[in-house]
Amino acid sequence: MAQMTALKPEDIKRAAAELKEQRPAYIKMLEFYQAVFVAQEESKKNIDIAPIQISDELLEIKSGRDLPLIDPAGFMIDTEAAGKLCLAICDIAKTANPHLAQSAQKLLDAINRGIDLTSAFTHLLQANHAQIDRTAKQLDIEYNVLIFFLYNSINPCLRLGAEQLSVYLERQDPWQQGYCPICGSPPVLSVLEDEGQRFLICSFCWHTWSAKRGLCPFCDQHDKTSIGYFFSEEEKEYRVYTCDTCKKYTKTIDTVKADRLIYPPLEQLVTLHLDMQASQKGYQSGLPGFDLTPIK
Ligand SMILES: [Zn+2]
Ligand SMILES: [Zn+2]
Repeated sequence: MAQMTALKPEDIKRAAAELKEQRPAYIKMLEFYQAVFVAQEESKKNIDIAPIQISDELLEIKSGRDLPLIDPAGFMIDTEAAGKLCLAICDIAKTANPHLAQSAQKLLDAINRGIDLTSAFTHLLQANHAQIDRTAKQLDIEYNVLIFFLYNSINPCLRLGAEQLSVYLERQDPWQQGYCPICGSPPVLSVLEDEGQRFLICSFCWHTWSAKRGLCPFCDQHDKTSIGYFFSEEEKEYRVYTCDTCKKYTKTIDTVKADRLIYPPLEQLVTLHLDMQASQKGYQSGLPGFDLTPIK
């Protein structure tokens, strides 16, 4: 299927405009993230990274063991493009809430002083919490906020890398797992299309893959007695599937019921209340926090 995370800037703006009308409580957040997502699309056009090569032999081994094509640390980053995007996102953030604006200014000052952004991007790819925490303390920026800037700056490189790698998936048997076939990360969202097809979207590289309905992507559980769901009458397009085996949950959008242009990264943001409800019911997010975890 076409990757639903690949929309043109004008379509991202259209999707955001429709959501703003429907969910006025999220207007400020939508405006901010819309600008970030549009900047990412603009940046993606200028990225220059060589496709990662995987030999037939390695591909066969990975396929036989249900292993993803690469580890997140294996993604290539165009540090020039990611650095420029980081500056652009800092500029956008300067118009956001005072806390984020202040952090953006601190990061800009550090970039102007010559901070080693390339290493910071690498630490994020390697999920090196300790090192990112050290950098955050040095810059006097909150840890989650630093992750936000770093992740969103490299996101277009990750997506392009995933697109380049996806040609290998065409040579493999259909992927049946709940983790991303490209990078092994957990899904951020599940999407139902017409005729009941279900897709999962990777929280890290945004790759979209087909998945069985009724599967908990976090523990591979299909048992109907473990999988439940909740939804609200006012928001029929959203459902939250819960798993009593691993106590995790999956937010799901039904595109037929939504009847509007869907850009999943925006949907992830306007469903934060569902994350809160899931948490109140005793379920945890399956996301590691190095991904599309929004900040307010
Ligand atoms: Zn992925
Ligand atoms: Zn589970």
